[in-house]
Amino acid sequence: MNVHEYQGKQVLKQYGVDVPNGYVAFTSEEAVAAAEKLSGDIKVVKAQIHAGGRGKAGGVKLAKNIDEVRTYATELLGKVLVTHQTGPEGKEVKRLLIEEGCPIEKEYYIGVVIDRSTNRVVMMGSEEGGTEIEEVAEKTPEKIFREVIDPAVGLLPFQARRLAYNINIPIDKVNKAARFMMALYQAFVDKDCSLAEINPLVTTSDGRVMALDAKLNFDANAIFRHKDIAELRDLDEEDPKEIEASKYDLSYIALDGNIGCMVNGAGLAMATMDIIKHFDGEPANFLDVGGSATAEKVTEAFKIILSDQNVKGIFVNIFGGIMKCDVIATGVVEAAKQVKLDRPLVVRLEGTNVDLGKEILQQSRLDIIAADSMADGAQKIVELVK
Ligand code: ADP
Ligand code: MG
Repeated sequence: MNVHEYQGKQVLKQYGVDVPNGYVAFTSEEAVAAAEKLSGDIKVVKAQIHAGGRGKAGGVKLAKNIDEVRTYATELLGKVLVTHQTGPEGKEVKRLLIEEGCPIEKEYYIGVVIDRSTNRVVMMGSEEGGTEIEEVAEKTPEKIFREVIDPAVGLLPFQARRLAYNINIPIDKVNKAARFMMALYQAFVDKDCSLAEINPLVTTSDGRVMALDAKLNFDANAIFRHKDIAELRDLDEEDPKEIEASKYDLSYIALDGNIGCMVNGAGLAMATMDIIKHFDGEPANFLDVGGSATAEKVTEAFKIILSDQNVKGIFVNIFGGIMKCDVIATGVVEAAKQVKLDRPLVVRLEGTNVDLGKEILQQSRLDIIAADSMADGAQKIVELVK
């Protein structure tokens, strides 16, 4: 689960990570009121969306006075910001962070990730902060340093200091930077993060070491034990189809293609996407209705697929094991009754109660194209959406 920068900073602050003073604002009036509470000459107006690259896209503005805060806030709120992380459709700005401008000396990068190759939490650092770390990794990988952390003892002070030295933090700030890293690691572990990225971490002319940006991701499977984090969820940032699907406990991920897929079992769902691609089609979603789906759940799943305007055809590919084919068929027929089925539908059923399932579909008089195999079904639906 993702949160906004200002929320991430609030979490980190609880652990002693130094961040600029700031407030969230939903309107330009709130932005002005927030700015009036802050000290310093420069205020920063920052678009809050679940994506990075805002600076380059015009989503981070330095205001020299309150009037400029109002101007920038009005300009940014409601604007669709397109950054290299949002995709071409961009994201609408609905919240701002108004924070104190910070006298930056130099920008650095610090990231905490879960590394699969070492099965450890790893802290990475670089003196190339502010820019995209992917670019640094590609062009100057020698400028990225790593500390592998033993979970039994956590990040040790000497490791934090070594990382600070390696990324060339000025000597007089090494201890502060090391404390910063220890605090960041503690927050990461306590809150069950899957990613924590501070880009940039900055040293300032008044001797501080601060997080100017914060990107925290939390492990969705651990959210149940962090009520405070669960409350930070912003549904505006999520695909409404995915929110709807999660209500019915369906594993649904929206994709860019035009073939809606309804499948049971994650493995079969992956294989279905592969075979659609193999025949030069593009899946519109990943959807696993699960092994214990009821007709009601299947109905909801089908409605979610149909609500996607990009979907030009649907491929139902079911292997009835625990899940019975007649349940799927009932769900499909029910959904088609509730929502007009105005797009081609290819169905491939196999397994438990397959004959009963086929009979239900036939009697419904829905316009269904039956497929004999997975490959046959994929070929048919790809042909139909062309
Ligand atoms: P993004 O990563 O989405 O572009 P950042 O929060 O990293 O957004 O901001 C981009 C740049 O804006 C930073 O690298 C920094 O140079 C500048 N910046 C951000 N916040 C402040 C601040 N409070 N004071 C001064 N400069 C800032
Ligand atoms: Mg950043």
